[in-house]
Amino acid sequence: MRVLFATSEAYPLIKTGGLADVSGALPNAINHLKQFTGDIKILIPGYSAVLAKLKSVHAVAKIDVLGQACTLISGMMPDSGLAVIAIQNSELYERAGGPYSDENGMDWQDNALRFGVLSRVASLLCSDNSPLPNWLPDLIQCNDWQTGLAPAYMKLVDHSTTKSILSIHNLAFQGCFDANWLKALELPAEHFQINGFEYFKQISFLKAGLFYADKLSTVSPTYAQEIQSKQFGFGLEGLLKTRQDDLTGILNGIDTHEWNPASDVHLEKHYSNSRITGKKAVKHALQQQLGLQIDANAPLLGVVSRLTYQKGLDLLPDIIPKLVKQGCQFAILGSGDKVLEAHFNALAELYPEHVSMNTGYHEHLSHNIMAGSDIFIMPSRFEPCGLNQLYGLAYGTPPIVSLTGGLADSVQDTNEMSLKNNTATGFVVKNVNNASLLVTIERAIKIWQNKKTWRQIQKNGMQRDISWDSSASTYLALYKKTLQIN
Ligand code: ADP
Repeated sequence: MRVLFATSEAYPLIKTGGLADVSGALPNAINHLKQFTGDIKILIPGYSAVLAKLKSVHAVAKIDVLGQACTLISGMMPDSGLAVIAIQNSELYERAGGPYSDENGMDWQDNALRFGVLSRVASLLCSDNSPLPNWLPDLIQCNDWQTGLAPAYMKLVDHSTTKSILSIHNLAFQGCFDANWLKALELPAEHFQINGFEYFKQISFLKAGLFYADKLSTVSPTYAQEIQSKQFGFGLEGLLKTRQDDLTGILNGIDTHEWNPASDVHLEKHYSNSRITGKKAVKHALQQQLGLQIDANAPLLGVVSRLTYQKGLDLLPDIIPKLVKQGCQFAILGSGDKVLEAHFNALAELYPEHVSMNTGYHEHLSHNIMAGSDIFIMPSRFEPCGLNQLYGLAYGTPPIVSLTGGLADSVQDTNEMSLKNNTATGFVVKNVNNASLLVTIERAIKIWQNKKTWRQIQKNGMQRDISWDSSASTYLALYKKTLQIN
């Protein structure tokens, strides 16, 4: 089985969020499955960081795509050695700034073209006109809107026999662009309609993928249900409902090489479920590093997140003063919403020994917050899967979550019953509002003070197998179902 895994980010090459974690880990996990007798390659834009980090690079083809001269570079992932094809075009991809936006956070004006090229190359690689004719994929897994046009090109332009899956990591991002892009994207205008890639007079990359892919997947069973409703469907619920038989929800795993408190390269002290004491030293070091009061008895609550409406962290500033009065500390790492960043910064100034706020993207600090905190906070309004709550489980940092998407599928609220049968792994906020979040944090802190009960909750989470192995097997089953093979 030959599989092309098309993505716009993959850790450790380039990362803005969970999609990179999944793309960095899932193809490799599938590749290592005993039952997988095949060959999997990642396709990714050749951003500067990607070209700098890939190992054993060499050019394999030169092609003209949507009027852009591109070189296909073959290389290997620096850690796993998995095969990667990067699309090199310095004007499109080698820019200062992020994969989707410039240094000021403004979307690149030509994202339609940048990810149109990614999708077009993906489709070409699955066609009779492939620039790599000796490696024709049986199946392509596309990820989010950035590769959403690939199934459309495959069906409408290349008439490809390769089967396609579109995986939704977050339905909120749809890649909608002005109809003027039709020509530059070389899309057949007759399909710019409701039964096609048109979405309210715009070209929607995500809708194209949802409409033309053979199968659809998303990153948790609950989210697969939720996105068929008006509340979570972002206008695509109707289409998703018509495709419900083709839609599967598979919970993400975590990369246990990157995220393992027993071997995490970012931690000065290691610990595990059977030897938890090292966690205290990490907390001590974190308090020191962040200028918080060094106090083992102060409950330390961690946040690592994009700061957007989705994540529900706008509920936190109002209740922080009350919790600080109760002795709580906060280690916050997040960027996005500037108003919210300013709120957290103001609180950090007001309570320097109790609140620490860091903006920007810091992999090292994120691991230390995950390990050094007692409790992790994640009250998302919607959450396709969420990785941080999974890291929280693995690091003995029970998460406080809302009951949505992958959070609902991965965290068991602590109550009398779940304590009794050792299934309690965290705390569920009943409603996403300040009062409910406050009550839940207070409830968690009260239980944290009972060290024996807390240790059991930590154990319950740390013992769970949340590695990619079982999710990878489920993806392989989906690949086989899509290819109609046993
Ligand atoms: P999303 O993909 O919606 O942002 P996830 O929980 O699925 O949320 O994944 C987020 C990933 O990005 C996690 O690995 C998290 O640790 C990381 N992350 C988010 N913000 C930051 C940050 N400011 N610095 C470092 N890592 C971050």
